[in-house]
Amino acid sequence: MATEKSAKRTARSAQSAPPAPPAPPLDEYQRKRDFAETAEPRGGRAQRGVRWAFVIQKHAASHLHYDLRLELDGVMKSWAVPKGPSLDPAVKRLAMQVEDHPIEYNKFEGTIPAGQYGGGTVMLWDRGTFGYDGPLADPVAGLREGYAGGDLKIALHGKRLRGSWALVRMRRPGRPQWLLIKHRDEFAEAGSDVTAEWTTSVATGRTMEEIAGGVRRRGR
Ligand code: MN
Repeated sequence: MATEKSAKRTARSAQSAPPAPPAPPLDEYQRKRDFAETAEPRGGRAQRGVRWAFVIQKHAASHLHYDLRLELDGVMKSWAVPKGPSLDPAVKRLAMQVEDHPIEYNKFEGTIPAGQYGGGTVMLWDRGTFGYDGPLADPVAGLREGYAGGDLKIALHGKRLRGSWALVRMRRPGRPQWLLIKHRDEFAEAGSDVTAEWTTSVATGRTMEEIAGGVRRRGR
């Protein structure tokens, strides 16, 4: 029984080991052709436009924080960001990795009963899509490698957050801690305070108090 269990454990950990970096998928095809000379498609570009869901929920639990969630492999990879995002590239915000959440969680706004895990008020603070913003031609491989390797480069297409961002994992023991950093681009804003600028729900326009009080408003 014990050996069966440990065999299963070994199989599981072997499965969950990060995959070896795959060769760029169109490497050979592209190497053989000079695209300045031939009208054939280069390939590997359309995929870069692929987008997945992202959401940020403002969560007044025992401590106020912002939950950043990025879709990857059928779940929402999640980080609790105590101070929330900053548009200032000089400001690095601590982002504590937490458990994966279901994709359906992206629609949740409301209250969690006191005494339950995360009890408090949850607001949909921003939402939209994101894409891979790193050097690999295959965006899925880029996101997987970035997440496994602790250097995730993404482009956000939200209502309030846009442009290029990085999540960088710190080398610390215990629960993985990352830094959320805005890259310099046209959406960066030195000295800005985006969480103070936007204090209502991106979905319903409600304040935290209105959500906590159960005020109903149609979603937008
Ligand atoms: Mn939370």
